[in-house]
Amino acid sequence: MQRAIQERQEDVKIGWFERNVIVCIHISNSRICILHISTLVGKHCATMTVEALLNDAEILIVGAGPSGLVLALCLAKLGVTFRIVEKSSGPGQASRAIAVQARILEFYRQLGFADEVVNGGLKMERLHLRKGSREIAALQFGDFGKNLSAFPFVLSYPQDVHEKLLIEKLVAVGIEVEWNTELVDFADDGKRVRVTLRSQGVEEISEVGFLCGCDGAHSRVRQGLNLTFPGGTYEQRFFVADVEETGAPVQGDINICMGVDAFCLVFPIRSVKQDRLIGIVPKELADRENVTFDDIRAYVEKLAGVKVHKVNWFSTYHIHHRVAERFRVGRVFIAGDAGHVHSPVGGQGMNTGIGDAVNLAWKLAAVIQSRADASILDTYESERIAFARSLVATTDRLFQEIVGRGLGAYMFRNFVFPVLLPLALKFSSGRKTQFRLISQIRINYRQSALSEGIAGEIHGGDRLPWLGGLAGDNFEVLNSNDWQVHVYGEAQAAMRDIAANHEIPLHMFTWNAAARAAGLSKDAAYLVRPDGHVALADSKQDADSLERFLARFKIKARATSRSSK
Ligand SMILES: Cc1cc2nc3c(=O)[nH]c(=O)nc-3n(C[C@H](O)[C@H](O)[C@H](O)COP(=O)(O)OP(=O)(O)OC[C@H]3O[C@@H](n4cnc5c(N)ncnc54)[C@H](O)[C@@H]3O)c2cc1C
Repeated sequence: MQRAIQERQEDVKIGWFERNVIVCIHISNSRICILHISTLVGKHCATMTVEALLNDAEILIVGAGPSGLVLALCLAKLGVTFRIVEKSSGPGQASRAIAVQARILEFYRQLGFADEVVNGGLKMERLHLRKGSREIAALQFGDFGKNLSAFPFVLSYPQDVHEKLLIEKLVAVGIEVEWNTELVDFADDGKRVRVTLRSQGVEEISEVGFLCGCDGAHSRVRQGLNLTFPGGTYEQRFFVADVEETGAPVQGDINICMGVDAFCLVFPIRSVKQDRLIGIVPKELADRENVTFDDIRAYVEKLAGVKVHKVNWFSTYHIHHRVAERFRVGRVFIAGDAGHVHSPVGGQGMNTGIGDAVNLAWKLAAVIQSRADASILDTYESERIAFARSLVATTDRLFQEIVGRGLGAYMFRNFVFPVLLPLALKFSSGRKTQFRLISQIRINYRQSALSEGIAGEIHGGDRLPWLGGLAGDNFEVLNSNDWQVHVYGEAQAAMRDIAANHEIPLHMFTWNAAARAAGLSKDAAYLVRPDGHVALADSKQDADSLERFLARFKIKARATSRSSK
């Protein structure tokens, strides 16, 4: 008998050869599966890949980018068993997305690590618009979302550092990403999804309840579902470089340097000594393969007014704006870049993918744990595809104005951006509007089947307004990632009873000027979803409405299922 054992951490592959039969067994993350049985017939070898013997994963997440990692962290917190596979050998090394928006920090607060992200990043204070060395406008961000969020700023936190932190958080709860493992095929039979994975040349066939494709812009899952990815590609070729430089006009701030038919964005990352440069590759080099930073050094240094000493990362790329036709087919979902890709304006792409993951996680967990009707899963697509489409329409319109060549682009660069925008930001309402737009706190699901009612200015589907300051912080209780009822004022006995019957926590907050200013209504009841959006807004505290709503979607709180076990 010949025998070979390959071992890496918890991963053990054992193969042996006896009487013309080769058997290959894979033990990974405490699961055991037979991978291959091969028979030697004469000189030929017939190989059969067989089913996993033991498989306890409800969900397979494909891709360990930000979307897949956040989906994994949310599912882990909600107690769902899953696997997360990634075809690369380790976390991404490129900084790529650098802006982390307030809404994502609010989700990270629910998961317990927002402060670590904030402390590891840089708050963006100002944006300068320049023509050559001349500043033509300065926009003061600072805490421009004051009173709107506990995170009233834009944070610079590079994607590679971000992904490493998310992986550390997963490891801390005992979950390992399965690196070097690629999804090669899948089939949904309506009850389970049969997936074929390949790891270091060895194939495994396994079954899971749901498949989540967080596998990026070239998604294998999206292609396997035959989904179209309508949209377009900008004609320009862009460059991105992470550099150490001196001379950027205002170190530590965002600079947009405009030239004729050219622009360069200078964005601080990691420390004030390192910057991200983004711009358009000059026309004469646009079609050349393998453009290096040295090819564009003189052009960039002149445009941005910098002297580059070290290039840590350089890449050129085309920018697309696309949204997949569906985000769900049966038991298969797509999230993040697999479902939508954007221009980099406003730093929305990665943030939107993370938002998808949060939205999908609690719904999948609720259905798997029999805490909601399966129809709740339909709302993932309707809620997130609508936002992705509106985002592509808005950020792309803005992007066209920045990089375009027409009269509109000229007006934007010479009038709207340098004159109107700074003026708008001088007023509190203008600052708030800008913050709402960029931070993703404006996202609402008012059109969703899960959204009902209106109380004050808050509709079912809106993000629950944040109230901080002296009167306490109404987001602290969202850390349970569970359903809850909020009353700003006094809860009536019938409302307390119905919440208690369903074991849904009811939180009462003092009615004050901040609550009024936030658009809440005194003594109204707000049923809040696990992701902090209002499901039902009821100005009358009608216990029957709450009862009907919970019954319609068969909603049970996690607290209920925990105590009934
Ligand atoms: C140069 C550049 C600059 C950018 N700048 C910004 C920015 O400033 N702001 C912003 O918000 N966004 C920016 N983005 C976009 C941002 O990086 C993406 O939106 C983000 O990475 C999407 O995360 P994701 O998890 O959905 O997908 P990805 O990060 O693409 O992760 C998908 C993962 O799936 C894996 N995978 C793919 N297929 C398989 C398979 N079959 N089996 C197993 N694994 C698989 C891939 O290896 C990859 O690790 C930038 C992107 C680039 C390229």
